[in-house]
Amino acid sequence: MAKIKAIRGMNDILPTQTPAWRYLEATVEKVLGQYAYSEIRLPIVEKTELFKRSIGEVTDIVEKEMYTFNDRNDESLTLRPEGTAGCVRAGEEHGLLFNQAQRLWYKGPMFRYEKPQKGRYRQFHQIGVETFGMASADIDAEVIMISARLWKELGMLDDVTLQLNSLGSNEARAEYRSALVDYLSKHLDKLDDDSRRRLDSNPLRVLDSKDESTQSVLADAPVLSDYLDDESKQHFSELCQILDQAGIAYEVNPRLVRGLDYYCKTVFEWVTDSLGAQGTVCAGGRYDGLVKQLGGRPTPAVGFAMGVERLVLMLETLELIPEQLKTPLDLYIAAERKGLQADVIALAEKLRQISPGLRVMSHCGGLKNINNKARQTGAPWIVLVSKRDDELVATFWDQEEPYKDLSEAQLLETVGGRLNG
Ligand code: ATP
Ligand code: MG
Repeated sequence: MAKIKAIRGMNDILPTQTPAWRYLEATVEKVLGQYAYSEIRLPIVEKTELFKRSIGEVTDIVEKEMYTFNDRNDESLTLRPEGTAGCVRAGEEHGLLFNQAQRLWYKGPMFRYEKPQKGRYRQFHQIGVETFGMASADIDAEVIMISARLWKELGMLDDVTLQLNSLGSNEARAEYRSALVDYLSKHLDKLDDDSRRRLDSNPLRVLDSKDESTQSVLADAPVLSDYLDDESKQHFSELCQILDQAGIAYEVNPRLVRGLDYYCKTVFEWVTDSLGAQGTVCAGGRYDGLVKQLGGRPTPAVGFAMGVERLVLMLETLELIPEQLKTPLDLYIAAERKGLQADVIALAEKLRQISPGLRVMSHCGGLKNINNKARQTGAPWIVLVSKRDDELVATFWDQEEPYKDLSEAQLLETVGGRLNG
């Protein structure tokens, strides 16, 4: 019978890959803790309407990327393509948003029907940050600084660049939008098909086009910064000033727009050259209008989401995963001959009891070629247990010294000492 395979674009994350994932997740959680953010856990499935109303009907996500289905009750549900909509829905539902400041984060799988390729999958993972109730540029700076600190912790700060732009208020953007449409309509023949299609539905997305001919048209297009309202200008210059003083480098990219409808004022992306085409590892911005759009009271908000797969790829490509995390164990313990299994298990338990940080794997099964089997585990320390005159003897190997015969007490002391040293 033919074997059943995984769904295209939905990956298994294998034991050889999970160390990088866990390292990334642990580092992110540590950094978010440093900024006193709280985790929120949200359902993976929401009502389809939630995404249509928040992300926008004429976006790539809603038009062609959502996994939407009717449940047994004929209600239209969607596997979440991103986390912000659900976070706002939950915040509103539980009264977390109005008149308070919230700093939240979430992690988990997202689903988009895209063409699978390196760095782009149909089930992928994001870690996201959402803040609510703070309207001034200091919080925009804070969320950017969280990401900057994370890159620093991971050793990749030199491999990413921060791109920054302001989209202005909704009114400013509407005015710019019609100026852009006027201009582009005069150059229809030089636009690529996608851009021509977007001209009616979502013209700001034309700015994202990678097509050369479209790019050349865009070179003389009106720029958004000329249309910004005074408040947005002020907000942007405050943000830049905080980032300058904090020593965070950025490039102002007047072409940067985000794919989702709900952004206003600040938008940003962290991009890298080290992954090829899928270079954006983290993206976010301000979305002051979204809470109201979903039926709540006006609530300022700013956040970002990072792509976990792309960051893991970066960690692997740049060889940034600490060597020690690549093996799951520090010490492998086995009996030298039959009849000592109970002693081995008891000794392994004592090691775990005395040194809680020690990762101990005890051998199970046949003892044939036990020396080789132990070495093949890649354990930096190996202990082989035998008995002489009814006393346990632990033969101890590590990388620096060939081996030593130790008593049980000496073994516990040696291992404890090395762990702490
Ligand atoms: P892109 O322009 O690459 O399609 P996007 O604007 O659609 O990205 P966002 O919705 O802003 O992406 O999601 C935030 C981050 O999540 C992205 O910067 C990226 O790192 C990651 N991401 C988005 N879509 C995918 C995907 N299909 N596979 C893997 N990672 C993704
Ligand atoms: Mg996309």
